[in-house]
Amino acid sequence: MPAVPEPSLAERIAAVLEELDPEQRAVAEALRGPVCVLAGAGTGKTRALTHRIAHGVLTGEYAPGQVLPVTSRPAGVTESGAGGVAEGEIEDAWRRVQLVADTVTPGELASLDDRDLLRRLFAEDDVRMFQSAPVFFRCRCSRERVSNMLRSLGREEVDSVLEEFGQVEVRCEFCSRAYRFDAVDCAALFAPGADAHRGGVH
Ligand SMILES: [Zn+2]
Repeated sequence: MPAVPEPSLAERIAAVLEELDPEQRAVAEALRGPVCVLAGAGTGKTRALTHRIAHGVLTGEYAPGQVLPVTSRPAGVTESGAGGVAEGEIEDAWRRVQLVADTVTPGELASLDDRDLLRRLFAEDDVRMFQSAPVFFRCRCSRERVSNMLRSLGREEVDSVLEEFGQVEVRCEFCSRAYRFDAVDCAALFAPGADAHRGGVH
């Protein structure tokens, strides 16, 4: 089987942006300057922002080691909604975060540790730092997952594609990786015991 080429940079950037709806995409494409996103819970703000970072890193606009994504919400506000907190209170809190963050000087950014900087800026708040993790592009697709997907389509469907094209090619929409299954691979998919690794409960 020929080696599947790694996706090109352009493909990786396209994959990052394709996942977004038009409004989220506008956020992810605005790499320079401050961007204010006002949107309700569950509309994909975090998604838009993380994709903006991924986009900026891939294009070289952002240095991965110098990006610090911070999320903040006032006490009493949960991911699913504001609970008992008034809408105006949330807006005020965000405005305060923005105002305080705007006071950071380039000198402080360059000289202070992230933790010290946040503690200094938000001295009155309960600042919690999470373990940092390197930002990188990753797709969780695998031949195993694609195999399971083909099994769930059913033998008849798979065989009809095989008959028409001589092989079954599944391209991951996210990372553009192609998975090819020839007649022998397809037969193996439906062989007795072939789904033993499906990971279900036995
Ligand atoms: Zn993939």
